[in-house]
Amino acid sequence: MRVRILGSAAGGGFPQWNCACSNCRRIRAGGFRGSPRTQVQVAVSSDDTNWFLLSASPDLPRQIEAFSKLHPSTQSRQTPIAAFVLPGADLDQILGLILLRESQPLRVYATPSIRGIIMDNNIIFAMVRKQITWDDLTPGVEFEPASVNGMRSGIKCLPFALTGNYPHYLDPALAASLPAADALLGLRLQSPSGRRLVYMPGAPAIEASWLDHLEACDLLLFDGTFWTDDELIRIQGAGRTARQMGHMPVSGPDGSLARLAHLQRPRKVYIHVNNTNPILDEDSPEYRSVRDAGWEVAHDGMEFEL
Ligand SMILES: [Zn+2]
Repeated sequence: MRVRILGSAAGGGFPQWNCACSNCRRIRAGGFRGSPRTQVQVAVSSDDTNWFLLSASPDLPRQIEAFSKLHPSTQSRQTPIAAFVLPGADLDQILGLILLRESQPLRVYATPSIRGIIMDNNIIFAMVRKQITWDDLTPGVEFEPASVNGMRSGIKCLPFALTGNYPHYLDPALAASLPAADALLGLRLQSPSGRRLVYMPGAPAIEASWLDHLEACDLLLFDGTFWTDDELIRIQGAGRTARQMGHMPVSGPDGSLARLAHLQRPRKVYIHVNNTNPILDEDSPEYRSVRDAGWEVAHDGMEFEL
């Protein structure tokens, strides 16, 4: 199974259009050791021809152009994108669907609650209603994703529930009425060779229910959104903490670096990295400490073979 990181940044990308944090300022000025990044998007394929996309990034059109395997090949209107698997309904995980209008049939796997949020609460998504074949994701139930034409992937996907919240844009009363387990998923994908990827771009806290998945996987793509819990508050002067936004910070005694230090087996990679996070700067002590702890920082175009 080939795993391709099409986008590695959190919402807003890097640099972010309205941000003049230290990272964004310096990468615009030039001389910054680190690369620009588009909003998070991962693609997997077991045959190098049919690609399954984990989420649907707002940057998807240009990410497709940047990766020739996703270009249409045989017909005037065609796509190697077999299906989407949505881990949640954050805007940086769903907006790509509306940008793929043009009558192309698509298959999308999502929990019923996420499907309802997208299709029943966002009027512009009516534009793609006829294009999409929806399939239910059920946390804890493994399945084999198939293309919109029914071609099987050879990949086993196990979605598992995280104790996460529904997106901030959703009416709180509606969010409270939906099953909590449907809100935010981690994905475990097993290749035909038996090797496993765990994909968790958002993880509010370490939970015993999914630690086993991490210990037994070969590649972990984990929430690297923020370095500290108060990162955005310090930059903006107000706002929500990382944890309130559904992301445990990388640093600190309760951060992912410390809490996942015991993982021996997987190659560990931080993904969904916010533009404010100092680990984007390869000259920073924070980047050095992450690398010294055995982690890598995902960048656009990074690939893995499982
Ligand atoms: Zn910034």
